[in-house]
Amino acid sequence: MRLVLALILLFCFTSPVKTKAEEKLSEEQIHTKRMELFQKSEALTHIPWYYLAAVDQYERSLRFARKDREKPTSFISIYIDPERWSGPLNPNPGDDNPRTITLFNGFGRDGDMDGKASIKSDEDILAAFTDYVLQYGIDRDNFKLALWDYYERDKTVSIIMGKAKIYKHFGTIHLNDKAFPLPLRFNYSYKNTWGDARGWGGRRIHEGTDLFADYGVPVRATSYGIIEMKGWNRYGGWRIGIRDINNTYHYFAHLSGFSENLKVGQVVEPGMMIGGVGSSGYGPPGTSGKFPPHLHYGMYKDNGLTEWSFDPYPHLRQWERQEWMKSRKR
Ligand SMILES: [Zn+2]
Repeated sequence: MRLVLALILLFCFTSPVKTKAEEKLSEEQIHTKRMELFQKSEALTHIPWYYLAAVDQYERSLRFARKDREKPTSFISIYIDPERWSGPLNPNPGDDNPRTITLFNGFGRDGDMDGKASIKSDEDILAAFTDYVLQYGIDRDNFKLALWDYYERDKTVSIIMGKAKIYKHFGTIHLNDKAFPLPLRFNYSYKNTWGDARGWGGRRIHEGTDLFADYGVPVRATSYGIIEMKGWNRYGGWRIGIRDINNTYHYFAHLSGFSENLKVGQVVEPGMMIGGVGSSGYGPPGTSGKFPPHLHYGMYKDNGLTEWSFDPYPHLRQWERQEWMKSRKR
């Protein structure tokens, strides 16, 4: 009986029928296609590809974080409100005629030269957005101004400029790798304490995971990102905040100190040492030793309107497992 079952299973897996998964593009292929679109836009407009990539990635994160946006269905995720696209006074809200759209001061453009300004076409969306930016100029200050007028939110502008810096620094948009915050070779322990009554962190509920380890064990960046905050806080002690390319903010608290030359605005990559495990906090700057040394690790999500904390525990488990498997392969 078992043999029959094994044969059936074998047949299933070796049958030549094409599965859906085989037709799907890999993440790397998607990134390559997306990058081609940015570079084509840059060639046409001289707007640096990393600016376009940053806006697109910001918008993609919103689509995953918000219920009022469709999930991404194509390479480009920049969202343009249909009314903005067709023009506010356009009697035809679904207009895809480039001439009438222009007449009504709409955003829509025909980037792929098929005679239509389609809100569903990646190239049309990029043409529309770049045309908007070109009204301001393509240098950093004018681009920031264009962003401010578009989003009317300081935090959004700084998040997008941070992403642009990350993309420019690495020269790629393929930046999804993650790392566990502590090197696996050290002794440490952590468990799921999400939502427990106040721990060491000074918030009403415990917004994060505590990873217990010896004093001075290296603490590492978990993602590609940019240092958004660094300094002392009465509860968190010496702490650091890193914003990744998905609008997620990673918070590291109670550190013994920081790695040398670490600055706000600096680009980091997964595995990069940023400080050491400590027990700082609960007093004026420098106070330490009021509780056992541990890393408090928190994750916060920005959706373009507000920011909230979510449970980092499942992610920590996943990154730990991935790293463990990678080290076994070597
Ligand atoms: Zn904690």
